[in-house]
Amino acid sequence: MYYFTKEIIQKSIKLNGSIDETDLFGNKGEYIHYPGKRAKNQPCIKCGNLIQAKSILGSTSYFCTKCQKI
Ligand SMILES: [Zn+2]
Repeated sequence: MYYFTKEIIQKSIKLNGSIDETDLFGNKGEYIHYPGKRAKNQPCIKCGNLIQAKSILGSTSYFCTKCQKI
């Protein structure tokens, strides 16, 4: 888990942040979340299973029940 967290944060920093946010100068980032905010009930790109959404500590997480366990 730590490895992937570190990898995702490094990738996001390299791409100047998330595509749905801007920096202090109004520049959009290029990092695209997968699964993103509209992923619920969309097919997983790895196995085709429908993506589920779950509220965890006030934030919604999106995941594939076959590929990832929370
Ligand atoms: Zn999957």
